[in-house]
Amino acid sequence: MMSWHSPAASGILQHMQPQPSSGFSGLGIAPNLLNSLHKHKYVHPTPIQERSIPTALEGKDLVGIAQTGTGKTLAFGIPMIQRSLQGGGHGLIVLPTRELAIQVRESLQKIGGEFGIKTALLIGGTAMGRQIAEIQRGPDIVIGTPGRIIDHLDHRTLSFSKVAVLVLDEADRMLDMGFAPQLKRILQHVPAQRQTMLFSATMPPAIMQIASSYMQLPVRIEVVPQGTAATNVTQEVFVVPRNQKSALLHKILSEYHGSILVFTRMKFSAKRITRVVRAAGYTAAELHSNRSLNQRTDALEGFKNGRYRVLIATDIAARGIDVTNIELVINYDLPQQAEDYVHRIGRTGRAGASGHAISFATPDQRGDLRTIERLLRKSLPISKLPESLPEPPEPAMERPSGHGASQRFDRNRRPHHGFGNRNRQGGNPRFRRH
Ligand code: AMP
Repeated sequence: MMSWHSPAASGILQHMQPQPSSGFSGLGIAPNLLNSLHKHKYVHPTPIQERSIPTALEGKDLVGIAQTGTGKTLAFGIPMIQRSLQGGGHGLIVLPTRELAIQVRESLQKIGGEFGIKTALLIGGTAMGRQIAEIQRGPDIVIGTPGRIIDHLDHRTLSFSKVAVLVLDEADRMLDMGFAPQLKRILQHVPAQRQTMLFSATMPPAIMQIASSYMQLPVRIEVVPQGTAATNVTQEVFVVPRNQKSALLHKILSEYHGSILVFTRMKFSAKRITRVVRAAGYTAAELHSNRSLNQRTDALEGFKNGRYRVLIATDIAARGIDVTNIELVINYDLPQQAEDYVHRIGRTGRAGASGHAISFATPDQRGDLRTIERLLRKSLPISKLPESLPEPPEPAMERPSGHGASQRFDRNRRPHHGFGNRNRQGGNPRFRRH
């Protein structure tokens, strides 16, 4: 079984701040189910569970952007079982493959079986007769693939009349497999008074359309799969005294060619660093909540179209920004929440491109680094500081945000010295690890 070291490699929940985790209690789960979870050694909820369970238990519709392996089965399974035990109606889980159906049934039986939760498995490749017998036993939860569910519907061996909770699991995959017509029929046949939870690893327009047509103001919950966010993003860390951070930034900026996203923890430091970066001759914009909407739009658009080469942002402002082809993410400050590290570095290496992430940690932040490493389940290579760091130029008075456009990308002409460990796993040989 996978173990989850951290409560949250989490995602963006638009209406809720991440809560510190104290196991599964506090999420609204009934005591007997908590015991069952405990018995099966589920100790800490995964991020998607931590966020979905309370929302789902309130009966709200939910769109979960999560992949297999994130623990999403119990994220919808626990609320569904609890509702069923409270006499709140039946559950229907529609998913793309037989294998997934079998796996989901096992997970639900494991937690709900001892309370008499009955499930029926309706998948292709097995006899209808046996499935009909399962349906006749009165299952609390039906789990099936779209084609076979429709077969039963057509044969009138299955009725949706008591379905109170509908789950569409791996919805994007179902659409990819051509199940759109079957899904549409299922959505049209289930009772209008129901709760719908949709899980999908991606959010193509067709899924958004299902959500807007068949769901009631769904809460969107997004998680980054643990450890996988960084597969095409190389990472390195500099342990650097606070007073040398801007000199190190200056040095790094001179070594890279493309667009760079710099994260700071505080708004005022975003502002200050923007000035430092501009003083060094780069085009830069700041993105944080002290900026007006117009300024933020300008910063983001300018960064996208190359007017600004460097964008300096705080976490909140940068959430959800989707800019492809960012070459480098610099964590000028480590994030407050370890989970934000995953989001930050996920801004580079998008759409299959490779990217690089450099983090500055002050010597007293080694504990924070370890928390991030636990979340990533890998250690981060620490690069040695360059022998001499240049004094960054003094920032001049603040200038309008368009300043420096004539010098844009002026550093592009410099040769790339491979300052970081781009495209290499495990650290730059030029800088020994300590
Ligand atoms: P899923 O993404 O639902 O397929 O789950 C992936 C794996 O994680 C399965 O083997 C689950 O049994 C396991 N799992 C789910 N939730 C937890 C948890 N809270 N703690 C430990 N393992 C879990």
